[in-house]
Amino acid sequence: MNYAEVAVNSPGSRSTFSYAIPPGLNVSVGQAVWVPFGSRIVQGIVLQLSDKPAVEETKEIAGIITDSPPLSHIQTKLARWIGEHYFAPLFDALSLMLPPGFERRATTYFQVTDSQADLSLTPEQRQLLHIMEGSVKTSLPELEEAVGRRKARQITEQLLDCQLITRTLELEPARIKPKTLPYIELTADRQEIEAAKVRLDKSGAYRQAELLEFLTGQTKPIPVGEIRKHLHCSPATIKALEAHHLVSVARLRVRRDPLAHLSFMPSPPPVLTSSQQTAWELIHDVIVRKVGPSSRPAICLLFGVTGSGKTEIYLQALAQVVAAGKRGICLIPEIALTQQTVERFANRFSGRVAVLHSGLSLGEQFDEWQWIREGNCDVIIGPRSALFAPLPDLGLIIIDEEHEWTYKQEDKSPRYHARDVAIKLAQLSGAVVILGSATPDIGSFHKAQQGEYQLVELKERITPRGYSPLPEVTVVDLREELKAGNTSLFSRSLLAAMKDALAQAEQIILFLNRRGTATFVRCRNCGFVFRCPRCSVALTYHSVERRLICHRCRYSVPVPQSCPRCSRRNLRFLGIGTQRIEDEVKHFFPEARLLRWDKDVITGKYAHEELLKNFRDHKADVLIGTQMIAKGLDLPQVTLAGVINADTGLNFPDFRSGERTFQLLCQVAGRAGRGVKAGKVIIQTYSPDNYIIEAAARHDYLGFYYKEIDYRRRYNYPPFSQLVRLVYSHANEESCRREAERVYRLIADSRQLTADSIIGPVPTFAFRARGRYRWQLFLRGPDSSQVLSQLALPRGWTIDVDPVGIV
Ligand code: ADP
Ligand code: ZN
Repeated sequence: MNYAEVAVNSPGSRSTFSYAIPPGLNVSVGQAVWVPFGSRIVQGIVLQLSDKPAVEETKEIAGIITDSPPLSHIQTKLARWIGEHYFAPLFDALSLMLPPGFERRATTYFQVTDSQADLSLTPEQRQLLHIMEGSVKTSLPELEEAVGRRKARQITEQLLDCQLITRTLELEPARIKPKTLPYIELTADRQEIEAAKVRLDKSGAYRQAELLEFLTGQTKPIPVGEIRKHLHCSPATIKALEAHHLVSVARLRVRRDPLAHLSFMPSPPPVLTSSQQTAWELIHDVIVRKVGPSSRPAICLLFGVTGSGKTEIYLQALAQVVAAGKRGICLIPEIALTQQTVERFANRFSGRVAVLHSGLSLGEQFDEWQWIREGNCDVIIGPRSALFAPLPDLGLIIIDEEHEWTYKQEDKSPRYHARDVAIKLAQLSGAVVILGSATPDIGSFHKAQQGEYQLVELKERITPRGYSPLPEVTVVDLREELKAGNTSLFSRSLLAAMKDALAQAEQIILFLNRRGTATFVRCRNCGFVFRCPRCSVALTYHSVERRLICHRCRYSVPVPQSCPRCSRRNLRFLGIGTQRIEDEVKHFFPEARLLRWDKDVITGKYAHEELLKNFRDHKADVLIGTQMIAKGLDLPQVTLAGVINADTGLNFPDFRSGERTFQLLCQVAGRAGRGVKAGKVIIQTYSPDNYIIEAAARHDYLGFYYKEIDYRRRYNYPPFSQLVRLVYSHANEESCRREAERVYRLIADSRQLTADSIIGPVPTFAFRARGRYRWQLFLRGPDSSQVLSQLALPRGWTIDVDPVGIV
């Protein structure tokens, strides 16, 4: 094999390039290499080896970046699949799997050689040589500055060909390095040490003698920092012993352990309840036989109501896989929930659990990556990116709360969905997938119904009271409240229930669907609404800072005194934010201790953990929160869950808004009554007859599912079709619209599509973002990828295959 197909780190590149392997260089698939690309040297990953190059002329690989390939064969295959399925640049897909801090640039330098300058040089070649003669080495950027980019690249190539100059590469310094600490140990033998102790004691060097005494009792090197702290000995003491060759100090590698601040209590597995046992037998069978129903892929959908013991099943499945010599990954929807899951898993798999997410420092991520790769862990826990951990012997992937939208990467390429990638990864590595949810994604449930996934159900909730029903839900009609003259955020029923719960010293959560409910400011006189000048979304009022803030781009202004349009001082604050709920709770229950959990309010590394711990330890009575609190929290002392307004989000112009609202309501309702006492849920709404709210109030997933799947079938929405979203953004509104229309025509005229399969073009919901306008169109149908592959879209377009949101 003399040639390699390499994915290069160059923006937008969707295919590989052929390079020759220079003699003596040991290159394998998954290897990271330096390759010449244009006139630069860039990082690349070897995806394939071959006898023949794909093109006639090839350059040589310039060098190897790491000794052993950072990626496995399976990972390179997975990256290719991601690149193809999501229309993403190959290197973007590979980057997901590379070690943290891996990406580095190299600068090219040139040196003039001693060979005689050829007389037939062009004036331009002479000019460049002249510049280079001025110093020992000259960087490519310097030359580009002097004579322009194209010329610099062209002429240096010519000069290299005539061997008048040579080229060297210098790497940008690594962003992250292994952490080392000085460690001390004895170097002399026992006799010498004993003799030295006596000698030192006699001469009054007690500190040195004491240190020798301490080290005699140790079996491994001790961090110098610890010695200094506990024995109070100075650097001079250590130096003196070192000088007499009694001890030596060496730097050893240490692991930056992200779980070091936590302590775990090993706990044995409980005896499964009879429903769990039935469920477990089905899953066990899939794990052992590695196939799903009727020889389908080994994928289980664990559909279990909130608190039905799904996590216990995950733990059993992991134990089974680990006992067979394999390992597993458990994905969770939100970094903020890591701790809750880590605690439960680490108590069971003591010392064998790793976490991987962007909330860790780069150093911790780097060490965790290496630690996992070396095979030190059996279980990885993390958000969607943990899927790409370099875990050997993958046997099981669990996706908890599989319906969550956070599993889709929306903001940058590759725009992948972790559920679909997990299924692909499992297929490539012969692993089993367990999807778990109380409110499965419509598409997942449809597949289970079709027999593609093994459906496993847990119908009863387990509490310390034994099996117990889901909490009772009351739907309150807010229109009636208004009629009765109640204009507060809380209905009379909710107020009464809160009063009861507080009197019993029980905990309450109040949920606010963030989407579309933030407080915005409107002029009562002329109707003017304050909007972000860059994003066109309404600005949100933050009472603490007394500012209006854009939640998209963080633009902010102090709260205005008067309307900029009509100059009247008659501004009104509309909508509800968590802030306003907090103010009202304080008004009604001045004694109650409040916590507000809001992504925008909470910052800091362990802030989420701290907040949750405080609430769980009952240091507060009421937790007010947005989407975060609907994501699988286990809060046993909560007996009342209140939904402030269930309608927000319901009328959002997105075909998934019904599904989304149903899931949120069920998940919030599922937070109450998980402990010793039964729970109660109050849903406030202006549309109590809406089938989504009715179904959520009955905890009736199936009732909801059948209605929803009918609607999807009728309008040909996923899972009955595939959607691809194309978004174009441009600083100029008119250019933006025109380009969107041009591409629409281009596709429509290619006549490969039926009329139904292209939708748009339309402006996006928040149609200006970060100072740019955005228009979009959608492809729907099985031929989308074919259309896309024939389309050469200019810069400014983004492609989102299987988008989760469409507005
Ligand atoms: P889910 O993941 O479905 O929300 P959990 O696994 O968190 O449910 O279980 C809910 C509660 O029931 C937890 O407090 C858990 O410790 C407890 N539990 C689960 N299985 C058992 C069992 N077999 N025996 C006793 N308690 C259990
Ligand atoms: Zn803005």
